[in-house]
Amino acid sequence: MNKPALLALDDALAQLRSHAQPLSAYESVSTMQADGRVLAADCVAELDVPSFDNSAMDGYAFNCADWSQAHGVLKIGQRIPAGSAPSSLQPGHAARIFTGAPVPRGADAVAMQEDCIVLDDGHVQIKSQPALGQCIRKQGEDIARNSVVLPKGLRLSPASLGLAASIGLGHLSVCAQPRVGLLSTGDELVMPGEVAPADLPPGAIFNSNRFFLRALLERLGCVVTDLGNLPDQLETTKTMLAQAADHHDLILTSGGVSVGEEDHVKPAVQALGELHLWALAIKPGKPFAFGQLRRQSFGAAHFIGLPGNPVSSLVTFILLVRPFVNALHGVSDSQIQPFSMRADFSWPRADKRREFLRVRRNTQGGLSLFNNQSSGVLTSAVWGDGLVDNPPGKTIAFGDMVDFIPFSFWMS
Ligand code: AMP
Ligand code: MG
Repeated sequence: MNKPALLALDDALAQLRSHAQPLSAYESVSTMQADGRVLAADCVAELDVPSFDNSAMDGYAFNCADWSQAHGVLKIGQRIPAGSAPSSLQPGHAARIFTGAPVPRGADAVAMQEDCIVLDDGHVQIKSQPALGQCIRKQGEDIARNSVVLPKGLRLSPASLGLAASIGLGHLSVCAQPRVGLLSTGDELVMPGEVAPADLPPGAIFNSNRFFLRALLERLGCVVTDLGNLPDQLETTKTMLAQAADHHDLILTSGGVSVGEEDHVKPAVQALGELHLWALAIKPGKPFAFGQLRRQSFGAAHFIGLPGNPVSSLVTFILLVRPFVNALHGVSDSQIQPFSMRADFSWPRADKRREFLRVRRNTQGGLSLFNNQSSGVLTSAVWGDGLVDNPPGKTIAFGDMVDFIPFSFWMS
């Protein structure tokens, strides 16, 4: 049998992207509930932020020219707590002011209270020579009115929710979340909790992919239906996939996409739609299936079949499923830029495939390598905090600079 030609990762990504039309639906959600959602429209400021000049300190607001004339001693006029509306500053006066309170008209500096002495006769002495505008937060210094504060396609973070709130947005227009049906495959798989480790039948293993794939999808903001585990049986596989296609944007499976006769996902998808089976030029993670499953009603659901080996499953998820799901979700930029870091290890055997090595940042500012890079060893992905992206045919000498991508990038 002819071996299929290996497909470069970037070519696979380009093909995936060309199919990933963003979902067209959107909804309005409370800003309070919008963490992790993707903006469906620009957020434009209808006001300046801050919307008025205000004090950055608890202290005294005054006019610098008055200060010079009065040799630093000014009469305390009004008191301006945050949330109040001051009157104009009278010549020769200072106003007691608190952080966030509006600076009165006529004042052009605030002195912090630690720099002031309150005198018995209702005056305040401001000790240091003031600089014009000191301790004043200027109107519009954070955000100018009519500017785009948060662009369409941005995944909202805690800080961006705060920024949206600061321009008065109580609700945000966000993209519909991709609905993903998740299936694992394999007669050997047993759910943890259902069987005690001591009672595991011969040849059985616990299903681990189902757990991390679900968690990864949820972190990306998908609505996940856990459709359970498929037996290695063609008819059941077809029935389950056909049903799942009706209610989901993407069906994601793990296992069953290799070339063995127990791998039934491939013929099932071929019978129900269209399938591209790729041998990716990456390690771990060679077999990868992509296609579409016709719906009974109308249209089709996307299909992605990941390899069964846990590390292959995890790595192909973060390299290929993440950008695909992000594109469906309307995320405008999910490109990842690696960091250049020093390898505190050597990798003397080059591979013809592009390798993704599990490593961890060490306290000397370099990267340490996990001692077992086998695609079945999930410990490597927990011990490690990221991957080295090593080009095909390349060895690494101790001390070489390499491309490092932290897991945290991929999981947000
Ligand atoms: P497959 O691609 O189905 O041939 O599976 C490749 C390897 O991954 C086999 O050793 C499977 O037992 C293992 N595997 C497949 N699915 C899972 C899973 N959900 N959890 C843990 N291991 C799995
Ligand atoms: Mg299998």
